[in-house]
Amino acid sequence: MYAPPVQRLITELSRLPGVGGRTAQRLAFHLLRVDAEQALALADAIREVKERIGLCEVCFNLADGPRCRICLDERRDPELICVVEEPSDVISIERTHEFRGRYHVLGGALSPIDGVDPEHLKIAELYDRVQDGSVREVVVATNPTTTGEATALHIAEGLRRVNPEISVTRLASGLPVGADLEYADELTLGRALAGRRAV
Ligand SMILES: [Zn+2]
Repeated sequence: MYAPPVQRLITELSRLPGVGGRTAQRLAFHLLRVDAEQALALADAIREVKERIGLCEVCFNLADGPRCRICLDERRDPELICVVEEPSDVISIERTHEFRGRYHVLGGALSPIDGVDPEHLKIAELYDRVQDGSVREVVVATNPTTTGEATALHIAEGLRRVNPEISVTRLASGLPVGADLEYADELTLGRALAGRRAV
């Protein structure tokens, strides 16, 4: 029905989360309609993030160098680590202004049915970070979903094995159950963080 280049664009757009066939088609026709400069600015922005943004070597947050801005910030408490599933969760927690520690981004949640096992996440790297006893508390801020809760339990047990001295806490209840952290408003997430308890 479409010329192959147009079909290719629609196919690529429809791979984006939340974009169905209809929306992909609408976006493709929008890009065909706007001038070349505007359409290519999108292509350039995509190329630039893929070339310049990688993962922080310490916490696996997004970084435009070997380390992310938070790991490079000397004012952030190195004895306090907040564990999250995705880099977008770091943004959600930063927006609350309630957290002054560092992060550890797992890269997902445990889900054996989907083939996501501990070795697919940055769990061993977390244990390495706390092994020397320099970390006082680990706040496990995985999503309040089935997989997020299972991941939190797994990590809490593992951390206790690696370093029994460490305090492991979980966000307080009040977050919408079954939803991802990014859907929680700042006030609710801030309160959940301030009211965190030991697990
Ligand atoms: Zn980092």
